[in-house]
Amino acid sequence: MNRKVLYGYQIMDGKLVPQPQEAAVVSRVFGLYLEGNLQREISDTLNAEGILYSPERPVWTKFRISFILRNERYMGADDYPVLIGSETFQAVQDLLQKKWGKRDPKYRPVSALRETLRCPCGGCLKRWFSSVHRPDTLYLRCVQCGGEVIIPDADLLAEVERQAAEYTPPAESGYTPSEDTVRLTNAINRGLEKPERPEDVVALILQGISARYACFETPAASPDTQRLIREKAYAQALKYITITADNAVAVAFK
Ligand SMILES: [Zn+2]
Repeated sequence: MNRKVLYGYQIMDGKLVPQPQEAAVVSRVFGLYLEGNLQREISDTLNAEGILYSPERPVWTKFRISFILRNERYMGADDYPVLIGSETFQAVQDLLQKKWGKRDPKYRPVSALRETLRCPCGGCLKRWFSSVHRPDTLYLRCVQCGGEVIIPDADLLAEVERQAAEYTPPAESGYTPSEDTVRLTNAINRGLEKPERPEDVVALILQGISARYACFETPAASPDTQRLIREKAYAQALKYITITADNAVAVAFK
């Protein structure tokens, strides 16, 4: 196999198509990572099974695993045939960011909330960069009305955390929390009152969102958190966050 072609693909009749055995390995690599395996463990597994990366460079390394996990072509970028569904791909990116984010000084917990940000007009707020760009501040622009919002990360996080802590799920849902759920919720609320690690709070809120919408998996969640997600999903779920031009933040819960 010519490794000038991305692993998982081959050229047949001048066309780029999946290479079945390799495509299966790619799919397995994504699966193993979502199951909690380290990149090094995945490369060890493939090597132990005698699976070759290529005849010229047979050995799998964690760097090759990393390259595969981050390669958007597997979900169809650049007109590549899709090997990995976008939900699985995004789940892996989220997990990568969660695991490696703390080592990256540029990582910002607030970026995890980006998809939920809305203008009062209802349009999505997207990031843009001004000439006075500060690294700890979000510069947002509404895709619908063009309205602009500039809000420090810390202000947005503090307000989201405060409103999440105050939120009580609607009584008419007929939901009865278990003892475990009450204990876990209290623990989370304590965290929300004193967010020593904002990324943890954001992660929990996002796990609620993901459980609610099933938009991506949460493979790294501890058993406690997974139970919480199952039992308490809607209570933790953010619908969207509205930010006005003068930085009034309103968190809408689903
Ligand atoms: Zn707007």
